[in-house]
Amino acid sequence: MSQQYKGNIPLTLSEYDTLTQLLSRLLNTKYPPVIIPGEAILGIEAVAAGISAPGRTIVNVVTGPYGSLFGQWLERGGATVIEVKVPFDEVVPVEKVAAAIEKHQPSALSFVQAEVVTGGSNPTEEIIKIARAHNLITVSDSVSAIGGEPLLVDDWGIDFVAVGAQKALAGPNGISAVSISPRGWEFLESNAHAPRNSILSLLDLKPSGEGSAPVRVPPNIPTLEARALILALTAIESEGLEQVIKRHEQAALSAIAGIQALGLEPWQKDNRTYSTLTTTVRISGEKKLHIDQPIGIVAPGDGELFGQLLRINHFGVNASLAGVEEAVATIAALLNQDHEQAVQAVRLVWGE
Ligand SMILES: *Cc1c(COP(=O)(O)O)cnc(C)c1O
Repeated sequence: MSQQYKGNIPLTLSEYDTLTQLLSRLLNTKYPPVIIPGEAILGIEAVAAGISAPGRTIVNVVTGPYGSLFGQWLERGGATVIEVKVPFDEVVPVEKVAAAIEKHQPSALSFVQAEVVTGGSNPTEEIIKIARAHNLITVSDSVSAIGGEPLLVDDWGIDFVAVGAQKALAGPNGISAVSISPRGWEFLESNAHAPRNSILSLLDLKPSGEGSAPVRVPPNIPTLEARALILALTAIESEGLEQVIKRHEQAALSAIAGIQALGLEPWQKDNRTYSTLTTTVRISGEKKLHIDQPIGIVAPGDGELFGQLLRINHFGVNASLAGVEEAVATIAALLNQDHEQAVQAVRLVWGE
């Protein structure tokens, strides 16, 4: 008796086509996205490498660590990078983006849609609207936003959108995608510094045009991950993307109610800008909340945010009533408090 290992059976053209169409529907775009043979961070680095060049000025919004990293990659490519940065317990005000655009006359603008690390979500539609009014190329890191908040790539007119499946979509982390508009492709093609024959080359991965059937399966796509992504996106379609987003909104609102019932407050200052993926909890000197390791979905702050906040990672399968209840009970236990009242507050907001 032998069990056949099927991981090395190549992806068929029909599977590849299915995956591309699932991604296009997810992103609300008629253009086939580029499938990135690795973690989402690879797609983001590839975008930075592809658009950056000496002589190009790019406004880069920094509202968390991923934005800083993107700026460093842009600088490596030789672009003049104008950083628009805010404290990490805030999101960027649109006026600040507008002022930087007017002052520096950039050719492109980049930002992160939803920040899992800080728990804030940037005003994406407004940012894009201002950038488009100035005819800028726009780049959105929507790795965590996708599935947690609306993202209408073609309607909004975003030129580069990086997405991952391992956050709100409960999918694999070994494969990801970047959606690129025709204007975005022109911006890459007109850049003599854009990588070629490289793992960072988006131009090497350019799919065949809109509407036309793919002619072959790119050989570098990880087979197991591609199949796992098809399953994850099929599950999202059968639940309904709107319902998936709603579940994340419910999780965020009920998590906030739960921590407030414990006498704690969100780390994000403005209650209109919470991300729906994570709820960040201000520690403010409360020693009992200093943890070194995650406990379930309750995690310490990353990097410079360590010791300043706790993060409740209520995304993907954990965007559930049970997930939020357990997280709130975990925090109550850290505080040596009874969790009953806080869990009731969670249930009330969830609607059960
Ligand atoms: C998770 C995340 C990434 C990185 O994706 P990985 O695939 O986990 O490396 C990038 N940007 C944002 C905003 C994220 O939330």
